[in-house]
Amino acid sequence: DTIGDNFDRTVAAFGDRDALVDREAGSRWTYRELAAEVNTLAHGLVATGIGKGERVGIWAPNRAEWTLLQYATAKIGAILVNINPAYRAHELEYVLNQAGVRMLVAAERFKTSDYAGMIEQVRPKCPGLEHVVLLGTDSWTGLRESGRGGDPAVLAGLQASLSADDPINIQYTSGTTGFPKGATLSHHNILNNGFFVGELCNYTEQDRVCIPVPFYHCFGMVMGNLACTSHGACMVIPAPGFDPKATLAAVAAERCTSLYGVPTMFIAELNDPDFATHDLSSLRTGIMAGSPCPVEVMRQVIDRMGMTEVSICYGMTETSPVSTQTRADDSVARRVSTVGRVGPHLESKVVDPETGLTVGRGTPGELCTRGYSVMLGYWEEPEKTAEAIDAARWMHTGDLAVMDEDGYVNITGRIKDMVIRGGENVYPREIEEFLYTHPDILDAQVIGVPDVKYGEELMAWVRMREGAEPLTAEAVREFCQGKLAHYKIPRYVHVVAEFPMTVTGKVRKVEMRRQSVTLLG
Ligand code: ATP
Ligand code: MG
Repeated sequence: DTIGDNFDRTVAAFGDRDALVDREAGSRWTYRELAAEVNTLAHGLVATGIGKGERVGIWAPNRAEWTLLQYATAKIGAILVNINPAYRAHELEYVLNQAGVRMLVAAERFKTSDYAGMIEQVRPKCPGLEHVVLLGTDSWTGLRESGRGGDPAVLAGLQASLSADDPINIQYTSGTTGFPKGATLSHHNILNNGFFVGELCNYTEQDRVCIPVPFYHCFGMVMGNLACTSHGACMVIPAPGFDPKATLAAVAAERCTSLYGVPTMFIAELNDPDFATHDLSSLRTGIMAGSPCPVEVMRQVIDRMGMTEVSICYGMTETSPVSTQTRADDSVARRVSTVGRVGPHLESKVVDPETGLTVGRGTPGELCTRGYSVMLGYWEEPEKTAEAIDAARWMHTGDLAVMDEDGYVNITGRIKDMVIRGGENVYPREIEEFLYTHPDILDAQVIGVPDVKYGEELMAWVRMREGAEPLTAEAVREFCQGKLAHYKIPRYVHVVAEFPMTVTGKVRKVEMRRQSVTLLG
């Protein structure tokens, strides 16, 4: 299926059921109403001259128009380019030019970000950008109005000319390990991923899914929107940005059956002073993804929020995103200590990064994914694509993992972060977890720095708890003595207030390594 055909099938089957609720705007649509809006917008894009394969950027927090544009572009085969709402002007400029965006649809502003101002600032440097449409202004109304009364046969003809293997979406990676890369995804990639994520959550047209995670990321637009529309479920947008109170209120008022979030979002909801005043009894399932989930949080999500079937997902932008997922009947222990098993119709293997040979169960190596979910490639970066996807179509994730006898996968770090000290492979995650147990350490990150004798030496960056004295390298080493193998004990310690972070909240070890080389002279 193409996304448009799949959407039409859902509209035909569940036209009278709720499709989308935007709580902030106070608007709601049934599938039939949503289809009418989407088709009008699709006609508007055509009337503006946007054609198949052309890039339409979206730069806005979660709101109904985001979803409308997602399906309108899919219907006419225009490629949607997701732009992170946290980007600043120079990042916007890079993405607009790299993807060759012809039309940009954006919010005027969000919180302290003046999007309209930043667009004006970069516009002279983006020669390919012809149309700027600002949501909530005349330009947005004009785009919709120009699509009124469009001939349905024209749209049907366009839709019929599309192939499921056409590119339909460019999503930039988080930029944790370098510059963000534009993963180019087809209908086939993301529609199937959304569908199977929904299958493993047992979604039907009875489900109502609360989506506080951003649409610009695949968590929101694929695991959220596409999982819902491919099963006839309802998408509920609690607020434009993440707000724990608005999320809890949306679940209660809309009787949501499923709730999404990264672990820190669930922590904020569980600790909200008004938590107990919300009736969350409608919740059955949900998804936690993006980073490892503490056991206690998982237990509370199940016991206090009633999300007995909640699952953990692992994936990456390049694989649409989900590769592994825990199942509703997996034990709680497995839903915290692993990222589940490989998803339907996908393959996973763990290989030795040096030889490329598959390693045994229980042995760490690089996780590789193959199947329908692997992206077409990085947009206009054939060399980087060839480095990531091999001749047999295996995506080399760059993540270190261990697979157990039953196929459950445990993510243990990233290859780029692995340190080779005097010939010994050292996995920073193991040392970081040990350092967290120090009462004065709030957070720790371990990297490798160049060393003449050992090739690489270990350096720990630590953030101290409030009121704690900064630790010396000697004190840290003493703490590790006898508890970690000698070659895993950090030689250098650097106390900092903050780590360098990406806009998606991940620690940038590349930047830490760069700064450390300067620090060590
Ligand atoms: P870049 O590729 O630009 O360096 P990135 O890899 O952080 O950035 P994303 O595609 O947003 O960009 O993130 C995918 C990565 O997130 C995975 O490769 C993995 O390292 C990490 N990840 C995703 N889900 C989980 C999870 N459940 N547990 C642990 N790590 C996860
Ligand atoms: Mg990556």
